[in-house]
Amino acid sequence: MSDPLLHLQDISRVYGKSDAEVRALDGVDLTIREGEFVAIVGQSGSGKSTLMNLLGCLDRPTAGTYRIHGQDVSDMDADALAALRRRTFGFVFQRYNLLANVSASENVEIPAIYAGIRQSERKARARDLLGRLGLGGREKSRPGQLSGGQQQRVAVARALMNDAEVILADEPTGALDTGTSEELLELLEELHRSGRTVILITHDQHVAERADRTIELRDGKIVSDSGFVDRPQAALDQKEVKSSPSFFLQLTESIKTAFRSLRANLFRTALTLLGVVIGVAAVVAMLAVGQGSQRDVMARFEDMGANLLFVSPGGDRGARMRGDAIATLTLEDAEALGELDNVLAAVPSRSGSATLRRGSNDHRGSVEGVSEDWLLANTRNLAYGSFFTAEDVDRRVGVVVLGTTTAGELFDNVSDAVGEYVFLAGAPFEIAGILEEEGASSFGRDQDDLALIPITTGMMRVFGSSYLSSVTIAVEDTDVISDTETQANDLLLQRHGTQDFRIRNTASLLESVQETQNSFSMLLGAVASISLLVGGIGVMNIMLVSVSERTREIGVRMATGARRSDILVQFIVEAV
Ligand code: ADP
Ligand code: MG
Repeated sequence: MSDPLLHLQDISRVYGKSDAEVRALDGVDLTIREGEFVAIVGQSGSGKSTLMNLLGCLDRPTAGTYRIHGQDVSDMDADALAALRRRTFGFVFQRYNLLANVSASENVEIPAIYAGIRQSERKARARDLLGRLGLGGREKSRPGQLSGGQQQRVAVARALMNDAEVILADEPTGALDTGTSEELLELLEELHRSGRTVILITHDQHVAERADRTIELRDGKIVSDSGFVDRPQAALDQKEVKSSPSFFLQLTESIKTAFRSLRANLFRTALTLLGVVIGVAAVVAMLAVGQGSQRDVMARFEDMGANLLFVSPGGDRGARMRGDAIATLTLEDAEALGELDNVLAAVPSRSGSATLRRGSNDHRGSVEGVSEDWLLANTRNLAYGSFFTAEDVDRRVGVVVLGTTTAGELFDNVSDAVGEYVFLAGAPFEIAGILEEEGASSFGRDQDDLALIPITTGMMRVFGSSYLSSVTIAVEDTDVISDTETQANDLLLQRHGTQDFRIRNTASLLESVQETQNSFSMLLGAVASISLLVGGIGVMNIMLVSVSERTREIGVRMATGARRSDILVQFIVEAV
């Protein structure tokens, strides 16, 4: 004779570790043949569900061998077991275990999804099964909209979806009233008559009497078995089911399932999404701001030209902070620097602010005392008139060159201003020229709010000081700019006796600005990354919640033949 359908040999199942161990099954020997209708009875806690889970390959025994059609299942890996489960068993649980957020039809279709059956075929079969179980027209209803009996019939339809040989029903009538229990039992009997093996767990004696064979469990041991009853059976014509779905099908189904569950938790999904969107947007925006401002600063420096050296008073940083070394750079220093080789011009500068007045208009703005070579060291041009001359500087003449903002404040028509007079620090200054408009600098300063006067005149009448704020040196040949820098440094050192000044070139300025810019960008990036991290943790949290919230769903899917990879792919897709 061929191998029996199910064959358990000395099976034990122990829960927990040594000190708190529970022997749910203890040395069970059992053989079930094709086409039997078996009832397993016993008190609560006697090990019925444990036996059922082992029979259905949802769990593995601690000891003993279990053979299905003669094949030892302990040799099989998880995926092979999932395939076996899918082909061989259909589960019906006491609490129906339907997925609450999908329709009746979709619940019935689940096993077929994992078996890799096409959607159209699946739908037709689910409709057919539901129709035969008296649920025609309720395909679209959610489990919550169905009565207990109807839900259990949906569960039976699901168990029948893959033409399972063996129906495992764990207290299927436990949550049903007498009438619906009777209907369900008739349904199971009919399935049995059509050739299926039915294994029914119950603690109800009347239910057990409907079966051909009754097995009683107590404390994990079989205490009585009414034995095998040979009855002629209809041959079960089992449909050939594809053993494993294609990867593509698996993925599309996972995506559909993921969307369905995201839709079921719409609010949570939206909030999570918002968190991540804010995080990502923050990172992008912060990096963009950092890069943008950096590029802007670079552009300004490129404008300025690479042929410049900047001399500023004050030695080390500490001295400058105390403000005690500011008065070190003089006009004579600037003149001496101008005599050096390779120097095009050394432009002294003293800046301050003052009020300019013209008639009833006045304007308080930036005033700078400079030499006639200012235009050389600043890439600026005149719009009207001319710049003041070396003679003007020598003779301390009251002349002024205005920026367009300053001129605009004082005159209605800027082009008419040349040759007119303005009062500056109480003295009249003739307007020699107007600068071309430049716009705001990258630091937001208006570069047209400017009045340029001869440095000598400024020292005498406006600033009340004979020290310089800076000297800008324009060199002729930029290839030897570092030699010129050294020479300038030596010269000033010789004149002052100490290093109470600082010389920088465009490149070193650029470098220091870049450094601050970089740390600025890094700070922004860090802030943004934190918000992204928070968003990410949000997603992780949601996934954790949904996994633990849905252990039951995972259980149902596993019972209906899902492989580990199916579940994994589903949750990964959801996370994505
Ligand atoms: P029944 O279905 O007959 O009521 P079960 O098979 O569910 O009984 O349980 C048998 C015994 O095993 C019980 O004592 C129960 O407490 C224990 N048990 C069942 N499942 C677990 C588990 N996952 N962990 C620990 N103990 C369990
Ligand atoms: Mg139980």
